[in-house]
Amino acid sequence: MAVSDHVDLPTFMEGVKKRNPHQPEFVQAVQEVAEDIFEFIQDNEDYHAQQILRRIAEPDRVVSFRVCWEDDNGNVRVQRGWRVQNNNAIGPYKGGIRFHPSVTESVLKFLAFEQTFKNALTGLPMGGGKGGSNFNPKGKSVREIMRFCQSFMTELYRHIGADIDVPAGDIGVGGREIGFMFGQYKRITNNFTGVLTGKGLEWGGSLIRTEATGYGAVYFLANMLATRGEDLTGKTAVISGSGNVATHAAEKIVQLGGKVLTLSDSGGYIHDPDGIDQEKIDWVKTHKTHRRGRIEEYVAAYPKATFVAGKTPWSVPCDVALPCATQNELLGDDARTLIANGCQAVAEGANMPTDLEGVHVFKAARILYAPGKASNAGGVAVSGLEMSQNSERRSWKEDELQQMLKDIMAGIHKSCLTFGDQGGGYIDYVKGANIAGFKKVADAMLAFGVV
Ligand code: NDP
Repeated sequence: MAVSDHVDLPTFMEGVKKRNPHQPEFVQAVQEVAEDIFEFIQDNEDYHAQQILRRIAEPDRVVSFRVCWEDDNGNVRVQRGWRVQNNNAIGPYKGGIRFHPSVTESVLKFLAFEQTFKNALTGLPMGGGKGGSNFNPKGKSVREIMRFCQSFMTELYRHIGADIDVPAGDIGVGGREIGFMFGQYKRITNNFTGVLTGKGLEWGGSLIRTEATGYGAVYFLANMLATRGEDLTGKTAVISGSGNVATHAAEKIVQLGGKVLTLSDSGGYIHDPDGIDQEKIDWVKTHKTHRRGRIEEYVAAYPKATFVAGKTPWSVPCDVALPCATQNELLGDDARTLIANGCQAVAEGANMPTDLEGVHVFKAARILYAPGKASNAGGVAVSGLEMSQNSERRSWKEDELQQMLKDIMAGIHKSCLTFGDQGGGYIDYVKGANIAGFKKVADAMLAFGVV
């Protein structure tokens, strides 16, 4: 007879903490999911007996490696690289690569864990993974970045493959870095295959991949507002970040009739009371991506705006908020301030931008609050579509892909309703997303037995 593991949540979390010392981000991500899953599995003996949650919270493998490269002055530099392959129950591992000095094993384990549920929610056959390095691309020359990417791929290539693990971009990794890494993969293996997504259009990339995360987050937000008979017309939006996700979320808000008040980076935020329109968004894209500039320079170009150094934008009153920069950038007090100022809806473009206290504040206030694993899944969804196009050796048209993205975001919203509708007009999107994602992965794992 099976020995079931009917421990309570605090005991389960004690075990997670003990097995993952000094990994606070990973523990936080597991806690957020376990809070909902414990209730869901309480009457399901199979999930208990097979220890499914415990198994999903133990990555299949964590590969850590040295990355040596030479800077422009001929100095030898040493960084650490990782690939975390969390779970491939429903498809090849899939998840981005992050280059940022804050990258640690804990950060990548939390991201790979979250990715497992997010990818399941898209309805596409993708498992969960994540990778990266503590390499800081800021201030590096293009040739230094190329040499780093080549060295990183010289180790990574043996762990990935079109049917094994398909990385993409994330913070600090855009089209340029994907190009350098794909070039090195191809050179080493002599194999032109869909081993990375976010590729250039000329060499196997998909239309709308660049826009998909930000656009998808706003489609999800529009779905949430529609449950209360509202839309984005005339709504004010506060957005953090000024990278890929933030600028495309801003673009879609503007297209749907909203007014964007803020953007930010790690130096602080800008507040433009006139609204950040398409022309200004284009300026930010060029300034941050091509000129590698700082957001504070926005006020020189648009003098009616103000720059607030060292702060996040959550004290600016708004109707909707989209945290699109990084993890734990919206804390409990920020959540209280947003609600006090009348914010009706929060859709996360970043991964785990709201800390656990903030999540609890949003849930208690019963506002429309979407966790990143639901609302930012548009990027990986179009990555999944890029994989399909690569397998078929064809490219779909932009309007076909736009429609697929919209449908996928509507499908994720529907899954959240299935498991998150609490009655009385309140939908707990965190619970809905956690349970819908978990169930799909868990049922596949049950079919495989103890492996
Ligand atoms: P980018 O590198 O394009 O932009 C990141 C933005 O966040 C920059 O404005 C950056 O500011 C800011 N930022 C990064 N780290 C910090 C920090 N520690 N404190 C304050 N600001 C910070 O990345 P993306 O836009 O691609 O990613 C943003 C978020 O969205 C991440 O959480 C990522 O995991 C998530 N995401 C991205 C997807 C994608 O398709 N790209 C898919 C799903 C989720 P600065 O310039 O100062 O560094």
